[in-house]
Amino acid sequence: MKDGAPMPHTTSLHEKIWTGTAVSAGVAHAVVHVLKDHFDEPDDDAISADMVEHEMERLHAALAVTRQEIEGLQTAMGAEQGSAESEIFETHLLILQDGSILKQVEKTVREKLVCVDAVYYRLMTQHMERLRGLPDAYLRERFLDIKDVTQRVMRHLRGELLETPMFDEPVIIVAHDLTPSDTVALDRSKVLGFAVEAGSAVSHAAIIAKSLAIPAVVKLHGICDSLHSGDTVLLDGEEGALILNPAAETLARYRTREEQAERREDVFQVERHAPAETVCGCTICVGANAEFVEEVDIVRDSGAEEVGLFRTEFLHLESPDANEDELASAYSQVVRALAPKRIVFRTLDLGGDKVDERLAAEPEPNPFLGWRGIRMSLGRLDLFKRQLRALLRAAVHGRVGIMFPMVSGLEEVRAAKAVLAECAAELEAEGHTIPDEVEVGAMIEIPSAALSADQIAREVDFFSLGTNDLTQYTLAVDRLNDRVCDLYQPTHPAVLRLIDLSVKAARGAGIRIGMCGEMASNLELTPLMIGLGLNELSVAATQVARVKHAVRQLDVASCSAFAEQALGLSHPAEILAMSRGMAESCYPELFE
Ligand code: PEP
Ligand code: MG
Repeated sequence: MKDGAPMPHTTSLHEKIWTGTAVSAGVAHAVVHVLKDHFDEPDDDAISADMVEHEMERLHAALAVTRQEIEGLQTAMGAEQGSAESEIFETHLLILQDGSILKQVEKTVREKLVCVDAVYYRLMTQHMERLRGLPDAYLRERFLDIKDVTQRVMRHLRGELLETPMFDEPVIIVAHDLTPSDTVALDRSKVLGFAVEAGSAVSHAAIIAKSLAIPAVVKLHGICDSLHSGDTVLLDGEEGALILNPAAETLARYRTREEQAERREDVFQVERHAPAETVCGCTICVGANAEFVEEVDIVRDSGAEEVGLFRTEFLHLESPDANEDELASAYSQVVRALAPKRIVFRTLDLGGDKVDERLAAEPEPNPFLGWRGIRMSLGRLDLFKRQLRALLRAAVHGRVGIMFPMVSGLEEVRAAKAVLAECAAELEAEGHTIPDEVEVGAMIEIPSAALSADQIAREVDFFSLGTNDLTQYTLAVDRLNDRVCDLYQPTHPAVLRLIDLSVKAARGAGIRIGMCGEMASNLELTPLMIGLGLNELSVAATQVARVKHAVRQLDVASCSAFAEQALGLSHPAEILAMSRGMAESCYPELFE
């Protein structure tokens, strides 16, 4: 159990338990840091006429603290006068101190007698919307400056930052929803777990928790209203529970449980660095997925044979302005640290829930069906070329695969490969050393890609099945939407048939095919995956040892017979139950 909790107070506080869905294993005991959505619209709370002065004082106090904060940032970043950073801070200070805005706020508070939070928020939002509608791209993007300043002021108006300074101790993050950008903004070295009200097992917060080997529980309805930063909780990523003020007996019970789990874990952890060979002698390559440079140690220690998916968009969200040299250096660090293992870098899969607001200034009505992945890269050749050049430069340090996300058909793959060839030619002409050949792959995560996999296979060296999206797009079920989560069924026969089709297309063309979606990490489904002909599984780093252990207990012929049967069935739950049954009989120790 990761324990970051302070010593308990002598007064005993009542335990309170919430249950949700466990999405990343482990147990943590620590104080919470509640991330509030500072952009929730404030209520129009009525005030009396004699409160107007007080309300304006609150606003001025919030503005003063925000000013200090921005000036502090300016100093900390050593922004030189006239530099781009310095201009950003200057713009923010100008917005903050804009006299006409303040006058308008005061007038409205006085006339309407509503709290200053609501008036300030509404006025700033109106300014933002006006800017967003302008035809000039530069001016349009300035809405982000107003958003940034408004967010800071709102946070201070609500007193959150004053009460709970950014955490400098280990904490469990509590949030309504944790977007990829939220995760990127956190000091992850101090985060012991995620407890989220919304979310799903395939949300990126859950995926990141697994990569960072910290517990995460989603669907903990109502926690944001009940918990306050500084409360002590125990987060159970095995059973999906969050316990506020855990009693001494509860903590003792968890310690015992943990000791037992550690003893069980030791059994399959000892063999994690050995190859995963089935009973019949077939080797399955078990790799790990990763998102951040800091994960290389976890990956190396996990026993992974390769990184089958490196989601580069997280590095982008962390440092959106990184230049080619900086990117090449970050990618090289990963390649060198894990050499000679193959690292499959997926080019930016921005869009959907991984939004860089500067690129997509207009919010999209259906972001998951919009400007995402390879579509955005092909529309922003400046960014795409910067990334491809950096990847090619990093590829000299080891074995690199470059993979394109959200491919819908052959044309996009050809277009992306043409840009890659152009980058390689340019780099060579500039005197850079680049490898003779870099493996190029396509994600199969859109039904149209699976259905035309035979065509795409002629253009690439490998496929990787992204079942998180393949499931959502095949079944038309938003992978993040709690309301339809029961319909999100990766074992739906339609999904399995698309996997089968892709595997056959890859085999027919003589190229490799692996799976990097969360289905590959699910031990209940390992027999089905092996049976469908997959011999490369890229899984959460924390699952590598377990998946390898599972593989060692399976026999390909029995798995194939089972998969053949499953492809003819019509009920997702029945297929899941059968796969689980086979898994439990072959490796019961992993389900204890
Ligand atoms: C997938 O869709 O299965 C996948 C691996 O990519 P992501 O989860 O990042 O969309
Ligand atoms: Mg995907």
